[in-house]
Amino acid sequence: MERTAQLTFSPPRRRPAGFDEATLAELNDRFEMAAPSQIVKWAVETFGQSLCLSASMADAVLIDIATQVDPHVEVIFLDTQYHFPETLVTLERIWDRYDLNLRIMRPEVPLDDRWRTDVDACCGVRRVDQLDRALEGKQAWMSGLRRSEAATRADARIVAVDRRGLVKINPLATWSDLDVSGYIDDHDVIVNPLVEQGYPSIGCWPCTRPVADGEEPRAGRWADLEKLECGIHL
Ligand code: SF4
Repeated sequence: MERTAQLTFSPPRRRPAGFDEATLAELNDRFEMAAPSQIVKWAVETFGQSLCLSASMADAVLIDIATQVDPHVEVIFLDTQYHFPETLVTLERIWDRYDLNLRIMRPEVPLDDRWRTDVDACCGVRRVDQLDRALEGKQAWMSGLRRSEAATRADARIVAVDRRGLVKINPLATWSDLDVSGYIDDHDVIVNPLVEQGYPSIGCWPCTRPVADGEEPRAGRWADLEKLECGIHL
């Protein structure tokens, strides 16, 4: 199989009809106690090929769950060009194990040192813009975002409408770290080796450090800056 980044554009997106606040509230109530696989099943049945999954390759938990529901679900990986080598090896391993329908997005800019001077602009061009492009033509996307990852994520909804007007689904939103580690053990899920080296949240190498005991999982991201999120979940 040829492995190249796919940077094709799809037709313009439209806001999915019927996802008003009342519907979102009903869905979130219904899914609060649901298993992630049930949430993914609803997403696949509702959106079909207009759905994709954005994966960071910290682990394959959501990919493992989602591909059991739909082996062909489209998985998006944002290759910022600044990933740790361990993350790229993990990507290859997960790709091979699940024979993923994988779409790798790469920025149309050369390597630079913008991360030294303007992290928002760097994340904008290397993450946010790439996800925007990947979501062209989609109605909904899934991510592995969890409430327990950071105080800023504590109120994350399971189903929401994002700034693009697309339905954003977080099937693991209610899971604790223990839920995740238990699933990994029970299902022999591939995990990025950096997790064991003190990186519970893995971003780009210039902007990620290991966390100390007692720190939030995302404390190592942009650790010396005010920045908390790259922007793709805002
Ligand atoms: S995490 Fe750092 S290197 Fe990666 S895109 Fe954002 S600013 Fe750039």
